[in-house]
Amino acid sequence: MADSTRDYYEVLGVSRNATEEELKKAYRQTAKKYHPDLNPGDAEAEAKFKEANEAYAVLSDADKRARYDRFGHAGVDGAAAGAGFNAAEFDFGDLGDLFGSIFGGFGGGSRRRNGPMQGANLKYGMSLTFMEAAFGCEKDINISKEDLCSACNGSGAQPGTTPETCPTCRGAGRVQQQTQTLFGMTMVTKDCPTCQGRGTVIKTPCTQCRGAGRRQIKKSLHIKVPAGVDTGDYLPLKGEGEPGRNGGPYGDLYVQFKVKSHDVFARSGMNTSCDVPITMTQAALGGSIELPTIDGTVSYQIKEGTQPGDTYTIRGRGIPNKNNPNSRGDHTCRFVVEVPQRLSEDQKRKLREFEATLTDRNYVKRSGFFTKIKGIFNK
Ligand SMILES: [Zn+2]
Ligand SMILES: [Zn+2]
Repeated sequence: MADSTRDYYEVLGVSRNATEEELKKAYRQTAKKYHPDLNPGDAEAEAKFKEANEAYAVLSDADKRARYDRFGHAGVDGAAAGAGFNAAEFDFGDLGDLFGSIFGGFGGGSRRRNGPMQGANLKYGMSLTFMEAAFGCEKDINISKEDLCSACNGSGAQPGTTPETCPTCRGAGRVQQQTQTLFGMTMVTKDCPTCQGRGTVIKTPCTQCRGAGRRQIKKSLHIKVPAGVDTGDYLPLKGEGEPGRNGGPYGDLYVQFKVKSHDVFARSGMNTSCDVPITMTQAALGGSIELPTIDGTVSYQIKEGTQPGDTYTIRGRGIPNKNNPNSRGDHTCRFVVEVPQRLSEDQKRKLREFEATLTDRNYVKRSGFFTKIKGIFNK
């Protein structure tokens, strides 16, 4: 893992207010400079390459960048890994610029296939109810993925036989070939066409996987969703991706969450809110009421003269912090005054009688409003 304590802007060598374009450019330069294919066996270059990927994964995502700017690495912990690439799945095609033509055959698909490569990372989208996301839950999921064939242990050779050294490349996996480039004829190294870069050929293929060494499998996984996750958050499951090539490690599985909306509660980060309808009389006179929160009600005394849209915030009754469940966001109730409808004649008469007793003193906003209106039109 790259040193995650280095400042991401520093890693890419850009200022904190770099534009998207500047970030992309800086990332391309850094990724090219340190790409493992250009620095074989150089552990430091590989670390720097990973570090650049991690930095770019965060800074190129407006949401994550905002969190990183506010909270530093703590704000994006785990997220960077989720969106990042590793050397194995990084493709020069991603860079999509001059690189390919300058280096001729070096580009697309010419990674050294006979070296160990990590398997592909997989993504699984998981839908959660509002409450499941708020308080966490456990779920079983079924994934379908490629895995090593259990009969031949991934070799592709029939049990009892072994793959043989490829006669074309003598095991190197690569062959030299003359190619026309922008700069004339050049010798380039390509994957061996006989063994597709593996360095070995199979004489007697495994009957279970027909020599592929891999089979599609179904796997059931038990997932513990932490309290406080939100739409877009990832849960990385180390080693649950696809198997590596040539003895490389398994990739990872990223469970990505999507949180459904709730009938009553809304959510913004760790804070929650809801509308609470109250009567005209409760608003005018005040009164006791039970306010709903995501985990039960809280007794509250409505203040005399509460206005529509007035709010009351209950500290620490919002969504738990996914990194520290003991800390929670706040819950805000917004009072909505419901005006009674379908009044009887008698009720209407009483209301009119009551209204006639009211003065500007009782309607501060209204009298202030009409004074302002007069000020506009009487000029
Ligand atoms: Zn097999
Ligand atoms: Zn070969």
